[in-house]
This record gives sequence, C-alpha cells and structure tokens, in this order.
Amino acid sequence: MDGKAITRFAEKIDLVENGCWRWTADDNTNNGYGRFSHNGKPWVAHRWVWEAINGPVPEGLVLDHFRHPQDGCIGPLCVNPHHVKPVTQRENVLRGNSPSAHNARKTVCSKGHPYDRRDSRGQRRCSTCQAAYSRARYAAKVAARRSADHVGQLLAPLLPSPASRPLTLVETS
Ligand SMILES: [Zn+2]
Ligand SMILES: [Zn+2]
Repeated sequence: MDGKAITRFAEKIDLVENGCWRWTADDNTNNGYGRFSHNGKPWVAHRWVWEAINGPVPEGLVLDHFRHPQDGCIGPLCVNPHHVKPVTQRENVLRGNSPSAHNARKTVCSKGHPYDRRDSRGQRRCSTCQAAYSRARYAAKVAARRSADHVGQLLAPLLPSPASRPLTLVETS
C-alpha cells in the first residue's frame, strides 16, 4: 500500500460519530461522490480506498453504499470502506443508489446526527448542528462588537477633537 497516498487521503476525511468517513474536499467532488487523484489518475474516493485495502473491484461490479438508511450512513460522501460493498450495476440501480436518491432517503445530517426537525421551507434539519450554528453565529457577533469597541478605544486618543485642539498657526522666522 502507498503510505504517502493513504496519509494524503486520510487528511481529507472527517470521522463522523456514526462511523462514516466524510470526504471533506468538497470542491473536489464528482456527481456527489468524493474525488481523489492518485498517480495522475482521478478516482472516486471511496473506490480508491476500498481497492487499496481489498484489491480491484471484481469485473462487472460497482461499489454500493449499502448501510443506508437504517444504519444512518451519510451516503455518497462517505468513504469508509466498510460502508460499501461490491454489487451488480443492476442491483445498485434497483436500490436507487444515486446521490440524489440517497439524499432523499437520508436520515442523518452530514455529521451523523438524526434529522429531527424541518425548517420553514420543509428542509430536514438536525437540531444539534442548528444549535451549534446559532451559538457560533452569536459568538462571532459578540467578538465583532468587542473588537470594534476595542479598536475604538485604541484610536480615541489619536483622534483630535476640534474643541480641545484648535488649529494654531506657527510663526516662522
Ligand atoms: Zn458511511
Ligand atoms: Zn447535525
């Protein structure tokens, strides 16, 4: 196995609480699947790691994210080789394993928490991530206000007020 490539691969993964390996190189996805290049060749990320461990996917078979939805695999962006298995293309199609079909069926958010509510537009949401998001937004607001105050205090002595520092003409000889 190519240790350097494995390290480079591992650096692009977040370990999700439910056991999924989430591909994080989001600008590097292909039809919803992670993409990884190795020796100048583009690979579907989950296939690359599966083959690095198990050898080539048998002729005529494709890798299927089989753990959904009952096990809560996050789906196409999961590259955990234990969350996919080789199946026939026909089986894969019958199971509706395209990224969009998978998303429609998904029961967990991208961090692996169960979806437990819907927002005003009917999108499924996870309250754990939503709470974390609003906490982060509030903290950012407070920090921004504090730093504005702080900068204001630092600048105050440097800003002459017209009343206290009238312009004076200096006589030159
Ligand atoms: Zn998974
Ligand atoms: Zn979540």
